[in-house]
Amino acid sequence: SAEAPLLAVRNIEVVYDEVILVLRGLSLQVPRGAVVALLGANGAGKSTTLKAISGLLKTENGSVTRGEIVFDGARIDGTDPERIVRRGISQVMEGRKIIADMTPLENLRLGAYIRRDGEVQDDLERVLTYFPRLKERTGLAGYLSGGEQQMLAIGRALMARPELILMDEPSMGLSPLLVQEVFGIVRQINRDLGVTILLVEQNARAALSVASFGYIMEQGKVVLDGTADALRDNEDVKEFYLGGS
Ligand code: ATP
Repeated sequence: SAEAPLLAVRNIEVVYDEVILVLRGLSLQVPRGAVVALLGANGAGKSTTLKAISGLLKTENGSVTRGEIVFDGARIDGTDPERIVRRGISQVMEGRKIIADMTPLENLRLGAYIRRDGEVQDDLERVLTYFPRLKERTGLAGYLSGGEQQMLAIGRALMARPELILMDEPSMGLSPLLVQEVFGIVRQINRDLGVTILLVEQNARAALSVASFGYIMEQGKVVLDGTADALRDNEDVKEFYLGGS
């Protein structure tokens, strides 16, 4: 349709420490309500792309030196991470970054720190319906299993009531069964809550099972894009990203 995408990254260049050029003219779009996958090998620049969108690049001495990032009709490149969260973008970090010496519930409440409305408790209960196991875990979050920590990180992002969630490798370190479970939840929150999702993954097969569209990155730019079905049928994608099957 002619509707403007919720997120448009246009031809961005990203530099770390003022000299290390990592993104070289990267463009992508995420339609409202979609799940879009950003795939590619280690070091292609996937995490950097997410950090450019969430503003977290700044905390690593990186900056967008060319191009623009437009969210919901407004430029956000160069904006502080906290303002970006307030505008409706939450990032689920690689390696989860939950707070180990707080309980799961405390971690979830922390996700709502930007909110001033009176519905945080209602949302907490709604979020817990997706992750019933977290309710039973009353100890410290540091003792949760890898899968539970990933779920907690997703739940915490949801507590900010985002329009867009950026997920950095939710499958990392999880068994195949847990990968399926986590991706099932990703699909559910997209469908039930209408949250738009940009998903970075090295596990292309899992990502394309939930995304409707995907981009493949190499060396700081997009080299291929297409619907999930088209990418799954693409011979190069099969060979290099789907393990030749
Ligand atoms: P991975 O799956 O390993 O996270 P990726 O596709 O997400 O890979 P990035 O983490 O974005 O890739 O890294 C892209 C390039 O940028 C790599 O060459 C990496 O060494 C470099 N890089 C990442 N973070 C920094 C930083 N803070 N300072 C300097 N260089 C960095």
